[in-house]
Amino acid sequence: MKQRLTVLGSTGSIGTNTLDVVARHPDRYEVFALSAATQVDLMLAQCAQFRPRHAVMASAPHARLLAEKLQQNGLDTEVLQTPDALETIASHEQVDAVMAAIVGAAGLAPCLAAAHAGKRLLLANKEALVVGGEVFMAAVRSGGATLLPIDSEHSAIFQSLPEDPATWARRVDHILLTASGGPFRTRDPATLHAVTIDEACAHPNFSMGRKITIDSATMMNKALEVIEARWLFDLAPEHIKVVIHPQQIIHSMVQFKDASIIAQLGTPDMRVPIACGLAWPERIASGAPLLDFTRLAALTFEEADARRFPGLHLSWQALAAAPGTTAVLNAANEVAVEAFLCQRLRFDQIHALNLATLETVLPSKPDTLQDLLALDAQTRAVARELVQRFN
Ligand code: NAD
Ligand code: MG
Repeated sequence: MKQRLTVLGSTGSIGTNTLDVVARHPDRYEVFALSAATQVDLMLAQCAQFRPRHAVMASAPHARLLAEKLQQNGLDTEVLQTPDALETIASHEQVDAVMAAIVGAAGLAPCLAAAHAGKRLLLANKEALVVGGEVFMAAVRSGGATLLPIDSEHSAIFQSLPEDPATWARRVDHILLTASGGPFRTRDPATLHAVTIDEACAHPNFSMGRKITIDSATMMNKALEVIEARWLFDLAPEHIKVVIHPQQIIHSMVQFKDASIIAQLGTPDMRVPIACGLAWPERIASGAPLLDFTRLAALTFEEADARRFPGLHLSWQALAAAPGTTAVLNAANEVAVEAFLCQRLRFDQIHALNLATLETVLPSKPDTLQDLLALDAQTRAVARELVQRFN
């Protein structure tokens, strides 16, 4: 039986890499639905290639345009235009697996819908888990969903941990998330106020969406990943550590009680964790080149410098604070990155804005999707107001 797949965010970096892997295995996978924000032409091409039953666009004008073009091209994909269309394609009874590759808190509602419906949920959209936290994990448990990490570090930890989660607390001392250090690993921290958008977008190893690229430059990406790991693997925050590894060959490691370490290695290519999530516990071809050890000059490691990357530590602080604080941190950071990309905030002010927002919004415990969305909206309003004051 083929696995029927919904890809949320199919036109993005993770979305297109997912479809690249899927196209290599027409015997195993069939696309049920695709979603995107505004890229109508790429969506049309994906519909022509994968013939999904449904497509969803984030705005009504883009949805209408897509519907027109599908009809002109004789394609029978139906464009869903209801307000809950993303939840519908994430939880549809004919769907087996959902790739969550929307960027930001915008992906939370369909992730929760897939979790409640007990789907195999392939999670790239780390912000959804950072915002959702306990509410997200409770939905996974009560819906009987299978949550598989796509973030390369978390896929590495998932592959390195013992199979039985009941043994983790007994056997594992801590986990080590590796970080590339981004484009500013060696730059003088005193010059970070002058960083341009182009400099921040020049990630050394990966071509990714703009939001995660900026997050990699500030290392807020790693901060979000610490929070993501806390929930995915039910780890106490002090058992999650970060080490910089610029070559990105070791994707992360588990340190066991007896001082043994198990790591997962490979070429830095997101098709590897995507193929792993799609096929687990099987292994399928991903299209990624094999790692050639004879051509590796060195694997190096260093500590993350708190002066250069002050945002990294906000993850542990937010996890130690009131429930909901990680949702505040995420919303503040989404606003900060957007403002930086619109040249309304300097690079070094991203951290300052995150900090100021955390000091202003004191959440009460969110219990439902509605609580989380309200907290997200409240925080965005505060953060936008603060951006004005920074100028
Ligand atoms: P991207 O910007 O390339 O793609 C985002 C996708 O989501 C696009 O299809 C876009 O149309 C859609 N989208 C954006 N805003 C939307 C909205 N408001 N409503 C509905 N759809 C919307 O981003 P990406 O790099 O593919 O990252 C996607 C997610 O995966 C992020 O959470 C990111 O942190 C995570 N991730 C990415 C990588 C990577 O290598 N790119 C690695 C690890 C984790
Ligand atoms: Mg990652």
